[in-house]
Amino acid sequence: MEILYQNNEHKCVMFDDLAVGGMIQATQFVIVDGDEAMILDPGGHKVFSSLIKEIAEVVSVSKLKHIFFSHQDPDIVASGNAWLMLTEAKAYLSEHWTRFVMHFGIDDYISKRINPIPDDGMEIKVGERNLSVIPAHFMHSAANFQIYDPESKILFSGDLGASFGQNYNRVENFDEHIKYMEIFHKRFIPGNEILKKWVNMVRKLDIEQIAPQHGAVLPGKENIEKFFIWLENLKCGVSLLDENLDFKG
Ligand code: FE
Repeated sequence: MEILYQNNEHKCVMFDDLAVGGMIQATQFVIVDGDEAMILDPGGHKVFSSLIKEIAEVVSVSKLKHIFFSHQDPDIVASGNAWLMLTEAKAYLSEHWTRFVMHFGIDDYISKRINPIPDDGMEIKVGERNLSVIPAHFMHSAANFQIYDPESKILFSGDLGASFGQNYNRVENFDEHIKYMEIFHKRFIPGNEILKKWVNMVRKLDIEQIAPQHGAVLPGKENIEKFFIWLENLKCGVSLLDENLDFKG
């Protein structure tokens, strides 16, 4: 567990070491504001049992009023039913995925608490503050969202910025860090065009940290600007396929 931001009323906490065995590393986050909290991308079943214990050190489970799913993948949603059973929280997921995730065993009566996010995003009030749910479609999921928290100035970027294989959870040298992000972004992001659009959009936000759902956090405006420039110039996805659909990344 690591605290990314804290003031009297507002706290952002990261849990980055709960995946076990053959599971891909996945990070969960909790944003607390006053009497309410939101859990972001809670993960799978085995993560669930460890995460309830760890979260209890940060906030009482009864305060978990919101669950955010950035997209439909198992490392995001597989424990959705358990979280909805344990809490009275409302969940939020792209309107395009709500019926797909029922296959993870989400009970019908609980499914009414899953709120569909429209394609252009929305605001979610947690405690006294509004969090922005911003569209990040096709990065990598076709219907995909991120959370921007204007209080902590953290962008919770979901799979964008994901890194694998490094032995730190906070980037110090961006250029050295690229090799840990490269394979995923080249293979999972469908094309450079969408990255350029996204960078244009988020450059308008005041961001102090980018916190992806896998791997290390990008701290500081200098690293964040380097990340944007890297994305704008990244050749990825369809443009790396040859005519036999072999990937030449
Ligand atoms: Fe994913």
